[in-house]
Amino acid sequence: MKYISLFCFVLTGCATPDTRLPDIGADKRFAEQSKQVAAAFDEMHRLRTRLRRVAAPILRENAGLCRKTRPVAGILTKTVNDFSEALQDEAREGRGIDDEPTVVHVLGDSPANRAGIKVRDRLQTPEGDYLSSHGKDFEQRLAAGEEIVILRHGKRIDNVVISPEIHCDYRLKLKMTPKINAYATGKSIIVTSGMMNFTQSDEELAYIIGHELAHNTHGHIRKIVSNFVLSLFQTKYIRLFEAEADYVGLYYVARAGYTLDGIEEIWTRLARLSTKPIYKAGTHPTYPDRFVLIAATREEIKTKQATGQPLLPNPGNDNKSR
Ligand SMILES: [Zn+2]
Repeated sequence: MKYISLFCFVLTGCATPDTRLPDIGADKRFAEQSKQVAAAFDEMHRLRTRLRRVAAPILRENAGLCRKTRPVAGILTKTVNDFSEALQDEAREGRGIDDEPTVVHVLGDSPANRAGIKVRDRLQTPEGDYLSSHGKDFEQRLAAGEEIVILRHGKRIDNVVISPEIHCDYRLKLKMTPKINAYATGKSIIVTSGMMNFTQSDEELAYIIGHELAHNTHGHIRKIVSNFVLSLFQTKYIRLFEAEADYVGLYYVARAGYTLDGIEEIWTRLARLSTKPIYKAGTHPTYPDRFVLIAATREEIKTKQATGQPLLPNPGNDNKSR
């Protein structure tokens, strides 16, 4: 039955609809098309800005707990080819982004912002080579004290120095899809636009980012792969890692200065969309388990804050793998 519309079209190719639609005209369609592309571009920019803003303190304030760190200036550049085909005309004509890297975002509280970098700037080496924030050694060179040049509205600003901060070395990626999801790869943290729009506060989004960061810092991806090979009880192991990521992630969020009150409510709202995890644990704990664990972890953190103890997760019996 899935393909019935396709077959109907083939079998009744000569039939016509019974009704006559109003003439919409190509002009109106093109105008609406441009409007929708601009809206999609704006939405992507809004989400990217929020994701970077909420994640920055988490990646910065926990750098001391991350095995891998890197200098971060707070600049994001893009070329027109970084956008999907549908958005490329808008990028080029509407936003002034062409084949050379252009600054599309500057983190609010960041070294780049303090150095006066602005959206639409182009950055170059003193020798005239364009600089991309994706360039392998871009931030290392800034950290080494190398000067850069800003090109802005046809003017040139020389001898700009940016002193990057140290962040956990995990790349943050926004995936545009309505699916409510986030995941860690061991090298990156990926959050979908569906998840971003599902979170009702920056604190909830911070919890999602903290959870994925904990998967990366605790090597869960590597451990899951080896458990798949060694164990028949892989879902149970994954579940333990999921609970650990909730526990450790909440510490990361608290260390970044976010308040934790009410964060667990996200699981009550998710339960309204999908009822099976209310009772049944699979690779993840049940929603009620996660709700209660988060609330208990918050109380543990609050006690440590009140008594001036270091904000560090309590170590387990086997600490060798950390
Ligand atoms: Zn997880």
